[in-house]
Amino acid sequence: MNIYLSLIYLLATVTFIYGLKLLGHPETAKRGNQIAASGMALAIAGTILLHGLEVSGFVYGLIGGAILIGAIIGYVIAVKVKMTKMPELVSLFNGFGGASAALIGLVEFGQNTGNTNQTITILAAIAIGSLTFSGSMIAWAKLNGTLWKDIRLPKYNLINNILLLAIIAYAVYMVISGSSGFAFALILLFGGLIYGVLLVIPIGGADMPVVISLLNSLTGIAAAITGILYDNMVMLAGGILVGSAGLILTYAMCEAMNRSLVNVMFGAFGGTEVSGGEQHTQTQGTIKKASVSDVAILMNYAQRVIFVPGYGLAVAQAQHAIHELEQLLENRGIEVKYAIHPVAGRMPGHMNVLLAETNVEYDKLAEMEDVNPEFQNTDVAFVVGANDVVNPAARNDTSSPIYGMPILDVDHAKQIIVNKRSMNPGYAGIDNELFYNQKTSMLFGDAKAIIQALVTELKGM
Ligand code: NDP
Repeated sequence: MNIYLSLIYLLATVTFIYGLKLLGHPETAKRGNQIAASGMALAIAGTILLHGLEVSGFVYGLIGGAILIGAIIGYVIAVKVKMTKMPELVSLFNGFGGASAALIGLVEFGQNTGNTNQTITILAAIAIGSLTFSGSMIAWAKLNGTLWKDIRLPKYNLINNILLLAIIAYAVYMVISGSSGFAFALILLFGGLIYGVLLVIPIGGADMPVVISLLNSLTGIAAAITGILYDNMVMLAGGILVGSAGLILTYAMCEAMNRSLVNVMFGAFGGTEVSGGEQHTQTQGTIKKASVSDVAILMNYAQRVIFVPGYGLAVAQAQHAIHELEQLLENRGIEVKYAIHPVAGRMPGHMNVLLAETNVEYDKLAEMEDVNPEFQNTDVAFVVGANDVVNPAARNDTSSPIYGMPILDVDHAKQIIVNKRSMNPGYAGIDNELFYNQKTSMLFGDAKAIIQALVTELKGM
């Protein structure tokens, strides 16, 4: 290969690794993204100009046209997308990555010389790419609410595992028999597509974060496989980085959701089957309502307040308002922290990104394990648009779909204020016994409007 191209690939790989490192902290994440994206642009330009492609000017025109159209569409989507819609966008991108790998696999299958290693790589690209594509499309439809029901075929785990084994057995057969007909590859493609759909449709409750990061990791693996196929170092390195980062994230999500990766992969995904036909308890009781001025007084006389942000904070775009409230309270000598649950919101790190946008100091963001013991010494826990991540049913109710998920122990605080617009459930679709707790007062309304009203009220005190 052209020595300059090798150097470009090396440089691009370094930018990916360095960019990924910077992505590890909200303060440097933007720069990390820019650095890695520049490396990618360099690798693409280098490949087109220095790879010695033996193609006509017309094909160059097609490549340029495709890049231009893709870049415009990508730019417009990225600029317009709302933060709350980001997970859907990530799912779409995952899906397109998988689709590319599957299509490359199909094209290469037609030109396969029969080399066993090459055949294995091509078939893996088709199978993994196709299941990543269809699984991501289902995840996208679930996240945006188009597909709001969790569809569970009878014995769906068994069916899924049998299908997975059948796909593997079929691919092995293709390698051994040296099958070369295009129809063989198409059957594998459809098998992968069906498996992707069946894998994701039953998943509901609080398990979606795990499936999203798993699909993300599979996209990386599919890209790495195409890198092997083309003997392309930068594609391989990029794919491995996405695949391994995704796997680490999947593992961290599994920990946060209290699921083992083996369960996730082979059977207990969703984890919402209730044994013995038992139904999870429907919470009964009365709720207490509070007014803005009640809550302002409570906060004004508190010594320690913990904010618990959730998806509703993102929907309401109340991050600036809550930061103002935090500063106001701090100026009065009240200690304020934010308790961050790993799956609060709709994507990993959602709350960190949201609060970083408004320059909340990072040492004010406390992770779940660190902050949980502090709730008992906290005067007011102020839950803003969070629901599942503070639901004590995850601790107490073995029949609950979220049973076993670690939660923020806000019920240990001396007083609990919950802000949301109604008694509607959160993502997992279940009632929350926290709202009926003796210590809880509900402060109904849109998060931004309510927090702004609290700020005004406090300023007048
Ligand atoms: P939830 O989805 O459990 O609850 C959000 C709450 O916000 C709702 O109950 C809603 O109640 C309230 N809300 C919505 N809009 C507003 C508004 N404008 N003002 C005030 N409140 C509002 O969110 P959590 O963050 O507690 O939990 C996240 C859930 O999402 C978990 O189940 C998690 O597993 C899942 N998930 C997380 C992903 C991740 O990676 N983080 C990815 C996919 C799913 P109301 O309508 O009454 O206002």
